[in-house]
Amino acid sequence: TKELLRQSDKLSAIGQLAAGIAHEIRNPLTSLRGFVQLLQASMADQRYCEIMLSELDRINFIVTELLVLAKPQGMKFLKKNPGQIVQNVVSLLESQANMNNVIFHVNMDSQLPMISCDENQLKQVFINICKNAIEALPEGGEVFVEGKTLMDSRIQISIRDTGCGIEPNRLPRLGEPFYTTKENGTGLGLMVSYRILEDHGGSFSIESERDKGTTVHITLPVR
Ligand code: ADP
Ligand code: MG
Repeated sequence: TKELLRQSDKLSAIGQLAAGIAHEIRNPLTSLRGFVQLLQASMADQRYCEIMLSELDRINFIVTELLVLAKPQGMKFLKKNPGQIVQNVVSLLESQANMNNVIFHVNMDSQLPMISCDENQLKQVFINICKNAIEALPEGGEVFVEGKTLMDSRIQISIRDTGCGIEPNRLPRLGEPFYTTKENGTGLGLMVSYRILEDHGGSFSIESERDKGTTVHITLPVR
């Protein structure tokens, strides 16, 4: 009888696979990008080169997301103010929000305790989830970001949009690699976010109602 891999072994095997694939793809990608740029400089019809460059960038973007799964460059945990991190992310997304007529309302409990985290990784989580909120509002609208302390020495950051919502039968598929309903989606954002939160001893849950909107609750331990 074959020995079955334990769940945690399976996860690390997936991480190694992701790292392998990402590195294998990124090197030829970089070289291809260089040659396309050279071609672009000399060719009469440049539209093809533009398309090829943007497709290359898209592959590169997916590879970058896959690398997060592989956790290559060990994480650095430092004590940080979660309210500040959220505020920085919202500022970072300001111009994208403006372009889409989306207004962010941030309401962080002033008493939020410091948390131990890898700031860049955690930023990535908030970016992924806030971007999904913006993308759920093609005609514009509002996003509410709230932070509070829970009873059991955890904090909760909630990101609520008034967008398209998610069909109940699709909810279980969220976070599956490459599951996306968007024309230009990668279907990696939620999976990567889940993985990062897991590394922080946290998690997220999603509440959604079709045409009403979606709320993502992120919880993180105070350590
Ligand atoms: P992507 O954004 O590239 O599609 P994600 O992993 O971030 O990948 O999200 C997966 C899917 O979950 C999305 O394609 C969308 O169908 C759904 N989803 C996530 N967040 C929201 C949201 N705020 N409102 C509606 N649907 C959402
Ligand atoms: Mg996304």
